[in-house]
Amino acid sequence: MPVMRVMASRAWRIYKGTMVEREAELVVIGAGIVGLATALEVTRRFPAMRTIVVEKENRVAAHQTGHNSGVIHSGLYYRTGSLKARNCVAGCAAMKRFCQEQGIPYEECGKLVVATSDEEVPRLEALHERGNANGVPGLRMLERDEFREIEPHCEGKRALHVPSTGIVDYSVVAEKYAELIERAGGEIVFGAKVLGLRDDAGRNVVETTAGTMRSRYVINCAGLYSDTIARMAGLETKLAIVPFRGEYYEIRPERRYLVKNLIYPVPDPRFPFLGVHFTRRVNGSVEAGPNALLAFRREGYAGAPADLGEAMEMLRYPGFWNVVKRYWRKGAAEQYRSWVKPAFTRALQKMVPELQDADLAPGGSGVRAQAVDEAGNLVDDFYFAHSGSMIHVCNVPSPAATASLEIGREVVDMMCERFALQAVPVK
Ligand SMILES: Cc1cc2nc3c(=O)[nH]c(=O)nc-3n(C[C@H](O)[C@H](O)[C@H](O)COP(=O)(O)OP(=O)(O)OC[C@H]3O[C@@H](n4cnc5c(N)ncnc54)[C@H](O)[C@@H]3O)c2cc1C
Repeated sequence: MPVMRVMASRAWRIYKGTMVEREAELVVIGAGIVGLATALEVTRRFPAMRTIVVEKENRVAAHQTGHNSGVIHSGLYYRTGSLKARNCVAGCAAMKRFCQEQGIPYEECGKLVVATSDEEVPRLEALHERGNANGVPGLRMLERDEFREIEPHCEGKRALHVPSTGIVDYSVVAEKYAELIERAGGEIVFGAKVLGLRDDAGRNVVETTAGTMRSRYVINCAGLYSDTIARMAGLETKLAIVPFRGEYYEIRPERRYLVKNLIYPVPDPRFPFLGVHFTRRVNGSVEAGPNALLAFRREGYAGAPADLGEAMEMLRYPGFWNVVKRYWRKGAAEQYRSWVKPAFTRALQKMVPELQDADLAPGGSGVRAQAVDEAGNLVDDFYFAHSGSMIHVCNVPSPAATASLEIGREVVDMMCERFALQAVPVK
């Protein structure tokens, strides 16, 4: 054998020796709230199933889960009968129960959705009907003097009071899911970026930066990269993730009294995002936002430059151009509000007129993973797909943090059905 080949083969053996090889029955990709909720449900229903969660970052909740508004949504907005509606209403109750049981701070503070013009009132009434049809408890339409008892600085024509809405820190929830998974015998491997997936005689081989995992089943919960992972597995979904950045301002502490809890506008029904709103966080701060901007980087938080490779990939996708064609007017307005702070303030002043530019300090940002089809439709509902012995969680935007426990249950139901598994009855 030529010397060079001997050296190369020895170097490969040494390299392979330093790489860990792990065997599992289930690998979950992504330690965001959805991947963790799924792994947690698996440990409950299949206590003996060897489960590994692989995460490219060095902590849980590093992306969407750790950069959201922290609202426990009630289930008001979503089409009746949709996965979002069902899982959000049930997930809202389940999330509060979980927080109570685990001693996680949360508050059921309620929210107002405010119609600020006469044209918005019929849309607000339609939202009220939809909320009732979805089973959201305690909804009430309020006149101006009634809603100002709840939010004395809020202005508008009428408001819908949603008493079941709550607030929580989803990073804390995700950490608790992780703790319970590990306590039940599951493993979370950090710094393990999935680079490739292949089939080896009926077993999935998951190549990661922390070594190779061989597993009977794989669940892809990679959030902003769920389409990339699905493609690695050879799945043709005809969907791509388009990242939408949301930027927040924070109300300066001395003016927080302007907002007691949560104040939302009536959403534009043609758009899946809720419009800039006010959110009190469990730590007492009050945020205003998020807007919705096309981001040319999947993990492109405010101030981050575009990623050339990811931007090119997006520009090559026909669905991206169809989104631009369809929503360019809305997109331009959102971009303008991002660049021109007084325009952002004006949108908020419709609900709280006393708010001034100087009351707003720059806050954080998050990036939403929104699946888009080739025609440029923003996929509205949660969406899952299968390939071989893998399940791909392809579209779980808001309210997926609220609904995470229910989404975990849905995915494990799919596993049982798809892979003919018999779960241990849960007491
Ligand atoms: C601005 C904003 C506000 C929101 N507000 C709310 C709200 O108030 N209430 C609500 O219910 N929902 C809200 N959401 C939605 C909610 O945060 C998300 O739906 C939810 O967090 C999705 O969880 P996830 O686990 O799917 O994704 P993520 O939290 O993004 O987790 C995916 C994980 O996969 C990992 N990963 C990716 N690629 C790889 C790879 N190749 N190898 C290994 N690991 C990988 C990532 O590092 C990441 O940790 C909001 C979202 C945003 C962005």
